[in-house]
Amino acid sequence: MTDLQAILDSIYTELLPRLGEGKVADYIPELAKVDPHQFGMAIATVDGNVRSVGNADIPFSIQSISKVFMLTLALGKVGEGLWKRVGREPSGTAFNSIVQLEREEGIPRNPFINAGAIAVSDVVLSGHAPREAIGEFLRFVRYVADDESITIDDRVARSETQTGFRNVALANFMRAYGNLDHPVEHVLGVYFHQCALSMSCEQLARAGLYLAARGSNPTTGHSVVSPKRARRINALMLTCGHYDGSGDFAYRVGLPGKSGVGGGILAVAPGIGSIAVWSPGLNKVGNSQLGAVALEMLAVRTGWSVFGD
Ligand code: GLU
Repeated sequence: MTDLQAILDSIYTELLPRLGEGKVADYIPELAKVDPHQFGMAIATVDGNVRSVGNADIPFSIQSISKVFMLTLALGKVGEGLWKRVGREPSGTAFNSIVQLEREEGIPRNPFINAGAIAVSDVVLSGHAPREAIGEFLRFVRYVADDESITIDDRVARSETQTGFRNVALANFMRAYGNLDHPVEHVLGVYFHQCALSMSCEQLARAGLYLAARGSNPTTGHSVVSPKRARRINALMLTCGHYDGSGDFAYRVGLPGKSGVGGGILAVAPGIGSIAVWSPGLNKVGNSQLGAVALEMLAVRTGWSVFGD
């Protein structure tokens, strides 16, 4: 049997001299303040165990990892109709790129680039005031993670509201093409708050369990989505979860994963468990530099991969 704790400990020990590598996301002022010398990793397995190392209990800004949970919520509301509003292809462009959106007439390539996630937030906003949609999202994440202590960091949300000019541009583009039903300020209010969700690696690994366990959380028995939907969300994470670094992540790690500019990555080993890693320094395409290295080490040492062992 694989000793997961020993593997986590060895990864941490080997990465300790490299802590601080990469560059924190300074385009969001509140994230620029985060100490880059932090590292945490947690694995929640489908048998209900959680193993962790380093700063795995410190909450961090999950940013775009929230897009996985918002997509799950939106699919629950409108089902496959969602795909009229957003595509399912890798973008090959930066997470906040605007060029492709204009060329493709306001239909974002996938739900994990910013434009796609903003369209998904618009779907969840339907029939609600922004505050209610944010509340619904927070309740949903607490439910999948089975943890009522999870919160949204208002300072991060405010920081993005004050500086998120590119997201305002993306949203206005989509509104101009008729792909947003609600006022831009309302949609972005929801989007910025979902990105500002604060979670530790341990909480995030638990929250991702439904994707590893055919749509249900095996520790609580909570059913979140059907097995088919869980499989499809994993497929999107694999192909689109790391922006224009998605191919490289699939090549090196071989697991569905979603990154965020807070330095977190959520990865899924179907049938085995859910893994969260956090190291704030980012690589050139906005994904956690050491987070990806740690997941690559984990995949090699455990043999976990959706492409064979
Ligand atoms: N809130 C961030 C933004 O909209 C999310 C980007 C990310 O985590 O990749 O710029």
